[in-house]
Amino acid sequence: MFKIGCHLSSSGGYLAMGKEAVRIGANAFQFFTRNPRGGAAKPLDLDDINAFNEYRKENSILSVLAHAPYTMNACAKDEGLREFAKNTMLDDIMRLDNIEGAMYNFHPGSHVSQGVEVGIDYISSMLNEVITEDQKTIILLETMAGKGSEVGRSFEEIKAIIDKVNLNDKLGVCLDTCHVYDGGYDIVNKLDGVLAEFDRIIGLNRLKAIHLNDTKNPFESHKDRHEKIGDGFLGIEAITRIINHEKLKDLPFFLETPNDIDGYEREIALLKTLYKY
Ligand code: FE
Ligand code: FE
Ligand code: ZN
Repeated sequence: MFKIGCHLSSSGGYLAMGKEAVRIGANAFQFFTRNPRGGAAKPLDLDDINAFNEYRKENSILSVLAHAPYTMNACAKDEGLREFAKNTMLDDIMRLDNIEGAMYNFHPGSHVSQGVEVGIDYISSMLNEVITEDQKTIILLETMAGKGSEVGRSFEEIKAIIDKVNLNDKLGVCLDTCHVYDGGYDIVNKLDGVLAEFDRIIGLNRLKAIHLNDTKNPFESHKDRHEKIGDGFLGIEAITRIINHEKLKDLPFFLETPNDIDGYEREIALLKTLYKY
């Protein structure tokens, strides 16, 4: 079953997102847990959550992915910012544990001239403080483009973070197709090789979701500018190979392309015609 969805606005709550997803032909969706540029989350609305959980069963919404705010930097130099990242994640996960099978994606962080080793240490210590044995939500580290001092550009960096986390059965990876191509993994010409490398370094069992984006910039440009499906340097053929790849076809795919809701609806319809299973 093709699991496909896109990023949706969370302003109307869970039930509204569920209905919006179904309306545009999606069976999965992603949303920001709070304003992507920071700020407080709305109070937890258990009526909305219960209504969504019911709606979801009847309408088979298969995957829900929450995205942490961009401002969260677990490896900031400033201790206050690191503390903010930790508290945001704790609060987000406490909320998400009400949504069955929800996953929580975050950008590992930017080490801002402290060096990647220090970055990896801060990120893994934060995760060690956040993760509890009985949390249900799986936390995903997103593969990054390597813009500025972003940590998580290479599979080795992601693996190093995972290895330093004690309860790392709660950790997975979200592969962003724009980011990895920007980051220097040639998923256009060597998809099999890149996935074999992922498997060897991190393990494909950790791969839990795909951010499906085309890219405005050529290979290895470290820019992180998403493009509409088929309009960028990945192109429709590579994207068709990605969604149909034996090792990827059963994962949930989330569009984060520069689109309004009608654009997402069209991309989802297009991708369904390209999915071969
Ligand atoms: Fe992201
Ligand atoms: Fe992404
Ligand atoms: Zn991006």
